[in-house]
Amino acid sequence: MFRCSLDKKEIIYWYYTKKLSLNQVSKKIGVSRSTITIYMDKYNLKRRRGTNIPHPWMKEKNHHYWKGDNVGYNALHNWVRRNKPKPKFCEECHIKPPYDVANISGKYLRDVNDFKWVCRGCHMKGDGRLIRLKKSKVKIEKDKKTGRFIGKLK
Ligand SMILES: [Zn+2]
Repeated sequence: MFRCSLDKKEIIYWYYTKKLSLNQVSKKIGVSRSTITIYMDKYNLKRRRGTNIPHPWMKEKNHHYWKGDNVGYNALHNWVRRNKPKPKFCEECHIKPPYDVANISGKYLRDVNDFKWVCRGCHMKGDGRLIRLKKSKVKIEKDKKTGRFIGKLK
């Protein structure tokens, strides 16, 4: 089937009324996706935002993008976990196996020596902020994603 032109109404129907993706619209009408976009531009039809699939390389690039000393907390945390050799035992109590890296200076330096591997218990104990938060009107919740404790105002 060859079409020399596309019906504007047909595109509007599938794309806006039925809310199909460009790929689905192209299948319904029987033309390629690029043909649809050409005609949409021709008819001045706006494409929905956020339907563009991000390039995989962009994700990869951002993931590995090193922001120098402004590196985000999680990125720094992960960097330390990767670069600081994990000892057999917690560096605080020397009894339990380490569970996470804890910052020592509170400055979160990009330096593995500013962190130590600690067990779950020591990690919580060592975090002075946690104790202060418990006394104040802050509710401490465990972040399901990271497993870290975060203070939230009640
Ligand atoms: Zn410990």
